[in-house]
Amino acid sequence: MKRTQVAIIGAGPGGATAAAYLRRAGIECLLIEKDPFPRYHIGESLTGECGAIIRDLGLGDEMARRRHPVKHGVKVFGPTGATSWYVPVMRREGDTLVDSTTWQVRRSDFDAMLLEHARAVGADFMQGEVVNVLRNEQGDVIGVQVRPHDSQHLLDIDADVVVDASGLGTFLSRQDVAAPRVPGRYAKQVAIFSQIANPVRGGEYPDDTLIFYGDKHHWAWFIPLDDEIVSVGVTAPGAYVAARGESKAEFLRRELHELNPNLAERITDDRLVEEVRAIPNFSYNVPRFTGRGFLCIGDAHRFIDPIFSFGVYMAMKEAQLAADAIRDYLDGAHRDAADPFAAYAALSTRAQDALQETVDGFWDFPLAFAFFVHQRYREDFIDIFAGRLFNAPDTFRGLQGLRNLRAHAQ
Ligand code: FAD
Repeated sequence: MKRTQVAIIGAGPGGATAAAYLRRAGIECLLIEKDPFPRYHIGESLTGECGAIIRDLGLGDEMARRRHPVKHGVKVFGPTGATSWYVPVMRREGDTLVDSTTWQVRRSDFDAMLLEHARAVGADFMQGEVVNVLRNEQGDVIGVQVRPHDSQHLLDIDADVVVDASGLGTFLSRQDVAAPRVPGRYAKQVAIFSQIANPVRGGEYPDDTLIFYGDKHHWAWFIPLDDEIVSVGVTAPGAYVAARGESKAEFLRRELHELNPNLAERITDDRLVEEVRAIPNFSYNVPRFTGRGFLCIGDAHRFIDPIFSFGVYMAMKEAQLAADAIRDYLDGAHRDAADPFAAYAALSTRAQDALQETVDGFWDFPLAFAFFVHQRYREDFIDIFAGRLFNAPDTFRGLQGLRNLRAHAQ
């Protein structure tokens, strides 16, 4: 038996960031990770507010030292490749928007850096797989059971709070602690992705994210990872992918040439220089993800759609908010409540719902969406794309505009 104040399942961006902020509040925590780092992970383009969290953790200089490409914005190309709209990365200083930047990351390197940082500021770390949840007679979560990599024996970890940061593993949902997963609106999509060398880059800046619209729910990403390599991926309805009857590599190479003329023109060498991977069914929601003794952050409770690169940011922002909620709880707040972390859950749900409305608006009303982003509600959408979704998303006139369109369409 081992004891800690907070046991964290998974040391991806969510888990490692939660650990760093818990340590800042002087709280003991143990990160438990099943995969040896560095390890491959998809999710390479970061939002502006994600960059702000990285800087807040004191890692801005380290990001520069590691030479992660600097992202100034995202450019989205329409189906002919001839039209496009651009959203710059900007930060808020009071009422004013100021030019800013964030990064593109090779996740093997980025995630290892975040874990190293968490350990450097005092988080404990265990290499092993969490296999069970410990509960008391009232059903409250009181710890986890781990299979450490260096031992045949299961180890019980007693904790005041368990944070589920297990990503797509959605550990506490699968253990019937959090609610069962509900398929999301984009659950029938499949993403197939790899990397290519030396394509022609450039949105407004060479290392910007490019998004290519093919057809409804059928699009490609282009994310520079270093001076040579660019991450490319195609997301399409599962039925379309199955009907092609191709291998993953055949599918991706053909799509690079056919999906959008602007993308095709950028390909100078279509050899896929990284294993071709696929992820189906990535869109889901765990409706109840907090309770007595536990809370979930990041992909462990919800992932909507990769189109606007929000996943890592949502995981890191929720980690920051969860650390605040845990600090208050350990100081005595909401100790006897049926759900001590209900306020965190409400904040997360409101922001995730605003993100869902944004993504749904893009797919349902692409032309109006482009007009809103480019002109009518430009500032709102600069805020939304940066990730400033957690402060009163109800006040965004841009989201109200999307709601009005939906009401008229029904
Ligand atoms: P993860 O990064 O998945 O980390 C979870 C960790 O938990 C893993 O290391 C895992 O090994 C560990 N773990 C799981 N179960 C256990 C267990 N039982 N015991 C111990 N350890 C465990 N996001 C972006 O920001 N930008 C993008 O461009 C982007 N592109 C994407 C493209 C696709 C196709 C998809 C599907 C997603 C994309 N995302 C993107 C989303 C992004 O990948 C995730 O949102 C992000 O990685 C979530 O971070 P996390 O910390 O919640 O989970």
